[in-house]
Amino acid sequence: MKVFKFLYFTFLFFLIILFFSNYKRKETIIIIKEPNNYDVLVNKKYKLSEDYIPNDLEEVNVNYSYEHKYLRHEARIAFENMARDASKLGYKIVLVSAYRNYSYQASLFQEYVDTKGIEYAQMCSALAGHSEHQTGLAMDIMGSNGDYNLFSETEEFNWVKNNAHKYGLILRYPQDKTNVTGFKYEPWHYRYVGITLATYLYQNNLTLEEYKEKSN
Ligand SMILES: [Zn+2]
Repeated sequence: MKVFKFLYFTFLFFLIILFFSNYKRKETIIIIKEPNNYDVLVNKKYKLSEDYIPNDLEEVNVNYSYEHKYLRHEARIAFENMARDASKLGYKIVLVSAYRNYSYQASLFQEYVDTKGIEYAQMCSALAGHSEHQTGLAMDIMGSNGDYNLFSETEEFNWVKNNAHKYGLILRYPQDKTNVTGFKYEPWHYRYVGITLATYLYQNNLTLEEYKEKSN
């Protein structure tokens, strides 16, 4: 009888472990409830629903952008104001990527997997629903050298890095925060969060992840 009792409790113990390990796995991805908030956190943990499309997307002025690039109203105004002020100082800022829908992001990620492998894809690109570009608040910027990958080598980058917050924009994936954001350093990727929050994050050297964790 003692053996049966032992086996019974061992079995029960494993059932409990199984339950909690599955529970934890299911917890890791959370669907975002308020995707329209300007401080919305989209990353490997927080996901936008497949059918989320911002309802105030507007085409960005082609003087500062490739054709047919869309941002949400406030983000568009912020970016255009920044690009206009930059041009007055002799800098040239061009928006190369902005809003991307769910299915486009899915094909983009698959392209990375096909050409560079899954590990590289996970560091450099986001799974569909996990990209900030679907919010219409994120933008990839190019400077005078005409290559967004080499944006950090331009004088535009130095100016943007120190002034973007005044327009409500933040450098989203800084060099020293890759372990927090889960993304490699992306000097070209900026995100609209509003002037108050952008200034706070800039002055305190915080990422959106760190801010959200604090305020939760
Ligand atoms: Zn980007």
